[in-house]
Amino acid sequence: MKDSQQPIYMDYHATTPVDERVLTAMLPYFGEKYGNAASRTHSFGWDGEAAVDRARAQVAKALGCRRREIVFTSGATESINLALKGVACAIPEKRHHFVSLETEHKATLDTLAELEKAGHSVTLLQVDRAGQMDLAQFEAALVPGTLCVSVMHVNNETGVIHPIHEMGEIARKHRVLLHVDAAQGFTKLPIDVNNSSIDLLSVSGHKIYGPKGVGALFVRSHDPKVRLAEQIHGGGHESGQRSGTLNVPGIVGLGAAAELACSLMEEESARVAELRDRLWTKLQNEIPRITLNGSESHRVFGNLNVTFHGVEGESLMLALRNVAVSSGSACTSALVEPSYVLRAMGIEIEDSLASIRFGLGRMTTAEDVDEVARRMVVSVQMLRGL
Ligand SMILES: *Cc1c(COP(=O)(O)O)cnc(C)c1O
Repeated sequence: MKDSQQPIYMDYHATTPVDERVLTAMLPYFGEKYGNAASRTHSFGWDGEAAVDRARAQVAKALGCRRREIVFTSGATESINLALKGVACAIPEKRHHFVSLETEHKATLDTLAELEKAGHSVTLLQVDRAGQMDLAQFEAALVPGTLCVSVMHVNNETGVIHPIHEMGEIARKHRVLLHVDAAQGFTKLPIDVNNSSIDLLSVSGHKIYGPKGVGALFVRSHDPKVRLAEQIHGGGHESGQRSGTLNVPGIVGLGAAAELACSLMEEESARVAELRDRLWTKLQNEIPRITLNGSESHRVFGNLNVTFHGVEGESLMLALRNVAVSSGSACTSALVEPSYVLRAMGIEIEDSLASIRFGLGRMTTAEDVDEVARRMVVSVQMLRGL
């Protein structure tokens, strides 16, 4: 049995540990293979360039695209910025319209807010109680002048899966670009950009058992060719789309993590879904008055977002010191605020504050699940008894 003081990690949506196999692939590029991938005149540079080429092929294969359609970045936040600002600035003489969802990640919402300040317009679509969007409402939001739609494949708080393929068909019909924030979906759900109408797609290394500080953007090169204005200037790396010396060890890690996760996808999704269901069953059996937030059926395998009615969120987090989870709140400047994602789904402030996001992943065991359930029962009973 687990020592009851030992912390248990159930925050895989926030970040994941680097898989040992990924770390092994990266290590030589910190050590003897330290060349700059842009050095064309010696073998140190060639080794770096070859490693980046290999990683580019690995990421392209995981997405079903061509190698030259991959741009390496510092993470999904940068990829999203490059995608949205990049398409807006590529046609500088126009004011553009963007469509997105209220429940997007801040990387998208804050970027769109900046674009609004620059004179562009943004429509944020609402979601229903289950966190799902409506395709008819989506189509109605596309107007002449709409340049790009941005949607996340999987929501990072609720695990809700959005219908990106259907959205792509609709966007294509209206000649609107589709950008997908796939930070939470990449390597968890199958994706094939070649056979879908996705034009831009952002991924992150540290959400897929790779390193932090590295990501990629898929940029469609044909039917249609997407034109992007570079946002980081200097040197013209990555075919002039993102300058700066390449993070060779990080890129090697992203490629290795993508390849590994794709090879494990089937087995891992079944195993982690079973653990997630085991946790949900235990919580339901042992704790009265709890509800699941977000669609139960359209949900990624490692996620459980639960409201524990009648407990105070902050106290619950304190009582759960040894369980690494996220609460339905964000602490901004010492104020505890309810999650805007849960609020957008119509969940009351009090219930949002009493919500916990459990994120299970590759290293989660049945023992972890049982111990977390036990700690939840003890904490909720204690707080409700006060
Ligand atoms: C983590 C995350 C991001 C940001 O990714 P970084 O690589 O940390 O910048 C963006 N969108 C979603 C949905 C995420 O989960």
